[in-house]
Amino acid sequence: MTPRYLVNFDSDKLEKSICDLLVIGSGIAGLTAALQACGKYRTLLLTKSEVKESTTWYAQGGVATAVGEHDSPQLHFEDTILAGDGLCDPQAVKILVTEGPGRITDLIHLGAEFDRLGEEMRLTREGGHSLPRILHAGDATGSAIESTLVRVAKLCSGLQIKEHVFVVDLLDFDGRCIGAIIFEPSLGRFSICLAKAVILATGGAGQIYSVTTNPPISTGDGVAMAYRAGAEMMDMEFVQFHPTALDEAQNPRFLITEALRGEGAYLRDCKGNRFMAQVHPEAELAPRNVVVREMVKVMHDCKTDRVYLDATHIPLLKLKERFPTIWKRCQESGYDLSTDLIPVSPAAHFMIGGVKTDIYGRTSLSGLYASGEVAANGVHGANRLASNSLLEGLVFSKRIMDILEEKANEISQEDLLGIRMTYTYPRRPKDVKIEECRNLIQKTMMEDAGVTRSVVSLKRALKVMDSLKDILNMEFSLVEGFELQNMIMVAELICRSALMREESRGVHFREDFPQKDDAGWKKHIILKINHCHPR
Ligand SMILES: Cc1cc2nc3c(=O)[nH]c(=O)nc-3n(C[C@H](O)[C@H](O)[C@H](O)COP(=O)(O)OP(=O)(O)OC[C@H]3O[C@@H](n4cnc5c(N)ncnc54)[C@H](O)[C@@H]3O)c2cc1C
Repeated sequence: MTPRYLVNFDSDKLEKSICDLLVIGSGIAGLTAALQACGKYRTLLLTKSEVKESTTWYAQGGVATAVGEHDSPQLHFEDTILAGDGLCDPQAVKILVTEGPGRITDLIHLGAEFDRLGEEMRLTREGGHSLPRILHAGDATGSAIESTLVRVAKLCSGLQIKEHVFVVDLLDFDGRCIGAIIFEPSLGRFSICLAKAVILATGGAGQIYSVTTNPPISTGDGVAMAYRAGAEMMDMEFVQFHPTALDEAQNPRFLITEALRGEGAYLRDCKGNRFMAQVHPEAELAPRNVVVREMVKVMHDCKTDRVYLDATHIPLLKLKERFPTIWKRCQESGYDLSTDLIPVSPAAHFMIGGVKTDIYGRTSLSGLYASGEVAANGVHGANRLASNSLLEGLVFSKRIMDILEEKANEISQEDLLGIRMTYTYPRRPKDVKIEECRNLIQKTMMEDAGVTRSVVSLKRALKVMDSLKDILNMEFSLVEGFELQNMIMVAELICRSALMREESRGVHFREDFPQKDDAGWKKHIILKINHCHPR
């Protein structure tokens, strides 16, 4: 049995703090929520590293928004639905594309700057978009947005930001989320943070794969803690791989944005042939799942683990001016973008599934909201359209605020302070090599639950996760230990869902069920602790 909490505790013996709103995570989703709460709620934002350290910071390509002269929310809607391969929630997508432009305007008012051509926004194109729609700040859009949000958040008087605080578990009492247990590694201390409402904005879980673009913070903590608290998870089998990570042995892998293909770069196989034009009318700008799958075939035929990105026909000045970060990073690795073919391979990039929410970010656990990559609200279906995720964080974090007041008034601070909770579980002392186990999870997930899966590979992966399950009963007071426990749980959720979905759809490709099966599987997979069903 999985213990409900990762640590034993008695709330009367732990230091307590209290706020109206607890936000967990300081990427685009968490900071947007905290800023929306500014002046309305006493808000505490906790983040496990430095405030800027987030996946958001590393986003390169940009934000998809229908602001171009020939564009419209309807066209953005159609592209998103098409990419989602039958599983998008049309209502959630409609909200994303119609409210998106307004949220971008908000961001610009806060001081975020996007590239312009004169007065007009300079737009680029990425895979699956029918026309140029991506706003960008060079090739470092994420850091431009994140630094704006951080700067403004620090000016908000009702908002306290605490860095290097690891949220271990969500507290639930009487069917309601009432806060979290936190661990401060610098003090070696656990404490409790009580709140009238909690927003989970902990991002994704790319680190459970050995080849990923995600930074070290992306260990799936939010999914694991919400799962332990009894919230519903949706579509965990859908993990998006990005086609073009620089093929170097390091974790995380450096991403080479799709915008480079948007500006004309080609993909070539080991013999120098372009291979996407025969496969899809949009060639290199086909949806990511199509490109990745073809790359896997080509790499197999060539008996290599890489293909090549060719930007040599793009004018040198344009490459340097439009992609300065990529230019510099390639040079550091010995490649000249204007003359060399750049070796690339697919890397785990985005968690499409996550904590199930409605269109206001409400999870199935009262008082708990989720936004950003940790949430599954139906906008991405079975395959996220490129550059829709930053937009998702902006749009849905704002929507949580639209309905929060009622919930926050349901419970008083006195009620919260009066709650006593204890949890005792027979724990084993920690007796494990964390790094080795982490490597084992990453390697197993990459080989057996990556771009292609089958009943055999998924059962093998589940066996490995089962062999690690004892670790969930161990007693840690160490961030890396909690992360390992969370990674085991998230990896298992992905494998269980992937095994259940006996078809291929979107980013989920089953070698043993290579066709899409609308009659049997045009539905979501919902997992709840001790409970699993398609819906
Ligand atoms: C290299 C790269 C490039 C990308 N490019 C684009 C792009 O161009 N356009 C686009 O739309 N998307 C892009 N994406 C995806 C996009 O960046 C993410 O989906 C998005 O930024 C997620 O935002 P978030 O706020 O949900 O999570 P994050 O930005 O990842 O923030 C999560 C936060 O939660 C904190 N946290 C996690 N666990 C805990 C815990 N236990 N306790 C306390 N704090 C915790 C983290 O420290 C972090 O602050 C890219 C992703 C990568 C990796």
